[in-house]
Amino acid sequence: MHLLKRVLVTGGAGFLGTHLCERLLADGCDVICVDNFFTGTKSNVTHLLSNPNFEIIRHDVTFPLYLEIDEIYNLACPASPIHYQHDPVQTTKTSVHGAINMLGLAKRTRAKIFQASTSEVYGDPEVHPQPESYVGSVNPIGPRSCYDEGKRCAETLFFDYYRQHKVNIKVARIFNTYGPMMHPNDGRVVSNFITQALLGNPITIYGDGSQTRSFCYVDDMIEGFLTLMDTPDEVTGPVNLGNPTEFSILELAEKVIELTGSKSELIFKPLPGDDPKQRKPDITRAKELGWEPTIQLEKGLVSTIEYFKTLDLESIFK
Ligand code: NAD
Ligand code: UDP
Ligand code: UDP
Repeated sequence: MHLLKRVLVTGGAGFLGTHLCERLLADGCDVICVDNFFTGTKSNVTHLLSNPNFEIIRHDVTFPLYLEIDEIYNLACPASPIHYQHDPVQTTKTSVHGAINMLGLAKRTRAKIFQASTSEVYGDPEVHPQPESYVGSVNPIGPRSCYDEGKRCAETLFFDYYRQHKVNIKVARIFNTYGPMMHPNDGRVVSNFITQALLGNPITIYGDGSQTRSFCYVDDMIEGFLTLMDTPDEVTGPVNLGNPTEFSILELAEKVIELTGSKSELIFKPLPGDDPKQRKPDITRAKELGWEPTIQLEKGLVSTIEYFKTLDLESIFK
């Protein structure tokens, strides 16, 4: 017999997954974290192991998984370009086969299932800001395609399981998120700039730094996940979750230098292939559901910088 809500978090040992597991445990759930430790680590969640409501399973979601659960948060998938481009075939398999298996599990157990989709489904957008109705501008054969198209196909599967099998789905399109527990060496802009600033290394701006992103602090994002999961069954999404305040990459670099008091210089490097020029969520729908981010970039960066200061960056980047 079970009394607590049994929640499965795939990718639960990663950046967002760790925060989500912590939050679900604090809310009194029975949490099962499933992860193959490709980008996540056991050490990210060891502090949770003493909680009797937490368990962890090493498993790759591209293979079937039989558990009895009430809710699923499907986060398993490397999120940073250097990680998802490392083994692009596995990235697509994780999104597509992982979605099929988790949807099959949701169908059998009648569990509600949340999908961590992404702003990358909009590709390099011609519409700005991006509402959920925008169908995107995605290259199917470029270096980002394994991630973008994998996530797009996962959305297709979610909506077909909803229409065909009446699975209760919640699809979130997550925009750039940052905060403590980010991987120091995942090549993403916030982690790169902070580690470079703290080590006194040059800050690497790709292109001229005029491209924009909108950065959401992790606590706001997790609140968004829970808000969407708690909506009535007819709310399926997709729903954009992100902070609509837009910054150029150059502005971000200047902010990080200011907040760390670093003497790092800026250096300019070539722009990677398929790099979107601008990105900003239209969060009208999320607001209608009662969610909007509350943490300003400066405040979020201060907490993130504090976290990175606790790491032994010298040995990580040796
Ligand atoms: P992350 O890389 O830190 O976490 C992903 C986790 O999934 C890792 O623990 C990894 O080991 C695990 N994983 C990867 N492949 C797996 C597989 N086949 N089977 C089981 N586990 C697997 O990334 P994150 O930033 O925490 O992202 C979590 C989710 O949110 C991802 O689905 C990502 O696409 C999505 N997302 C994140 C962002 C962001 O800004 N962080 C933006 C958009 C979407
Ligand atoms: N699946 C799973 N766990 C379950 C139920 C299904 O991993 O508890 C997998 C199963 O291996 C299958 C996939 O989910 O490949 C899709 O399941 P579905 O029932 O939709 O398809 P079918 O089994 O009919 O092919
Ligand atoms: N970027 C940069 N310097 C870096 C890392 C990234 O200028 O050291 C740029 C990158 O080209 C992109 C933006 O910052 O325009 C965000 O990159 P990230 O990889 O964090 O996320 P995504 O491109 O997936 O939004």
